[in-house]
Amino acid sequence: SLSIGIVGLPNVGKSTLFNALTKSGNALAANYPFATIEPNVGIVGVPDPRLAKLAEIYGSARILPAKVEFVDIAGLVKGASEGQGRGNQFLANIRETDAICQVIRVFSDPDVTHVDGDVAPERDIETINTELILADLQTIEKALPRLQKEARNNKDRKVQLDAVWAAAQLLDSGTTLYAGGKAAGIDLAELRELHLLTAKPFLYVFNLDADELVDEELRARLSAIVAPAEAVFLDAKIESELVELPDEEALELLQSVGQEESGLAQLARVGFETLGLQTYLTAGPKETRAWTIRKGATAPEAAGVIHTDFQRGFIKAEVISFDDLVEAGSMPAARAAGKARIEGKDYVMRDGDVVEFRFNV
Ligand code: GDP
Repeated sequence: SLSIGIVGLPNVGKSTLFNALTKSGNALAANYPFATIEPNVGIVGVPDPRLAKLAEIYGSARILPAKVEFVDIAGLVKGASEGQGRGNQFLANIRETDAICQVIRVFSDPDVTHVDGDVAPERDIETINTELILADLQTIEKALPRLQKEARNNKDRKVQLDAVWAAAQLLDSGTTLYAGGKAAGIDLAELRELHLLTAKPFLYVFNLDADELVDEELRARLSAIVAPAEAVFLDAKIESELVELPDEEALELLQSVGQEESGLAQLARVGFETLGLQTYLTAGPKETRAWTIRKGATAPEAAGVIHTDFQRGFIKAEVISFDDLVEAGSMPAARAAGKARIEGKDYVMRDGDVVEFRFNV
């Protein structure tokens, strides 16, 4: 499954946030039989109010939300790209993730020292991006001789080589491929083989003091720094308390700091989006469940997420949109109203489709 790597400078609240993710993941894992969670992986459920509604219609015994996996990538320090700290391990680990989540300190606790002396979110973002950019430039430098040789009598390789040159130029100017590649006219698909770090989608977690959570001006300023990447604003200390509390008390604590939803829930939702994922839904008396697919997946691919046999033996899918189902009140009523569609193997799934697959096994 796809995962998001969490990186950040020391003392910015990564472990605090990650512990909250792990606690929340353990609670979730209890619902997933046979789920084993690695110690450096934290899992969050993607909040989806549609699930409770469906479970009500079907009288489902339990609800299983979609999940997002976060991997704790330790060891980002200045010079990591040159092997400082545990730089090489750091680079190997981060290369395997599908998106990069940077945790940035904004909270100003004088008891927590900052590696660079003072709290300066913009500078820290630059420090991290510089390490990732330097790592990418090294990767390119290593690959260039081979690419140049191959490009001599291969047109496809020439196109690839040109994209790599353009990427090197952009990176040299201090811009990540994710932020600036498109505007520079670089086809990121041509770079895929190099597994460049800054070509992965980025998202940002700003770790704020509780009273800063409601500071709209600050949030707008920080969002602008990282655009087009998405930003999540949270207080990691509060998140670590929230996961210990029963739902009602957690809601009270959130409301006391002017929030409606936990930072982890926001992080799950934004992470899911950043990874280019969507869900479809299944429901029955046993469970209501959100299944994760990539945007643009076809019906057989969606069936394959439940079981590979379902994809191989796919015949057709009975599909109804969540809104139509709720309006009809039940599946039989929706069928009677002609709202349920039979779709074949070319059907492209839409977010919120409620599905029953027919297949041969
Ligand atoms: P890491 O090195 O990035 O993993 O940072 P830690 O999670 O270990 O946090 C470093 C210190 O900052 C710890 O003493 C935390 O309790 C504290 N800390 C983490 N998040 C916050 C926060 O949101 N507000 C405040 N005031 N302190 C925090």
